[in-house]
Amino acid sequence: MSLPPLNPCPGTVWFVGAGPGDPELITVKGQRLLSEAGAVLYAGSLVDEAVARYAPQSAEIADSKGMTLEAIAEWLTTRAQRHATVVRLQTGDPTLYGALTEMARLLDLAGVPWRVVPGVSSAFAAAAAAGESLTLPEVTQTVILTRAEGRTPMPPRERLEALAAHQTTVCLFLSITLTREIERAFLAAGWAPESPVLVVHKASWPQERIVRTTLSELSTACRAAKIVSQAMIIVSPALGARQWDGAPRSKLYDPTFTHRFRRADKAPEKPNGGAS
Ligand code: SAH
Repeated sequence: MSLPPLNPCPGTVWFVGAGPGDPELITVKGQRLLSEAGAVLYAGSLVDEAVARYAPQSAEIADSKGMTLEAIAEWLTTRAQRHATVVRLQTGDPTLYGALTEMARLLDLAGVPWRVVPGVSSAFAAAAAAGESLTLPEVTQTVILTRAEGRTPMPPRERLEALAAHQTTVCLFLSITLTREIERAFLAAGWAPESPVLVVHKASWPQERIVRTTLSELSTACRAAKIVSQAMIIVSPALGARQWDGAPRSKLYDPTFTHRFRRADKAPEKPNGGAS
């Protein structure tokens, strides 16, 4: 029989997704954990509004902006010895570009229990801001969440040009300074220069800005709009589809389609016009 550790860590570190910026876009669970937290470490200026609104006055609060990974783990570890609930608040969803694995490994080594609460990613907040759907029947049924290659190298199998070749919806994080590279990769992958592109700066914030442009105009449009940070770029064959004549419809709500919860009103039409 293995004995329990002599000094089990009394607290748990919660990696909480704060959502894209609007404090109302945190989950109910995330909000509750923040309100119970003895200590909160938040990631830069993107989420301070949620902290200010939901964390108790008595909580120890710090910004991780200038900290190294080791300093973050140390901060969380020492606070988990003192408080039952410690929150590491991150933008959007913590599992996307949030250094979650590195932090969790250090907490594992220190014997600190940790859990993750998902959040609304900026990819979804950007699509919502523009009233766009990321999937459209018969047009695109796949969403790629990725980034252009900057100082962080991309795995060789995930070069932007290779991903773009699928001609699906592509959401690009951390790439607003790499718009020329995006243009080049998508054009090389066979996208038309006039393909629609959506850029949303600070989605869900009061300062939110939506720029609709085309692939060949992407860099010029971002420069003209002076968008240089905190932006989601979405390239998708589904953009603008609500203005199309005869846009494809989903089977789920098609009157001629029977499924578990609804019978078709009328028989589906046969190809070639059926038996007439
Ligand atoms: N985990 C986050 C992403 C962190 S990486 C998420 O799920 O959204 C940081 C990048 O996310 C930024 O460079 C930008 O591309 C994007 N981003 C974060 N918040 C944003 C917002 N409110 N509006 C637009 N893009 C945002």
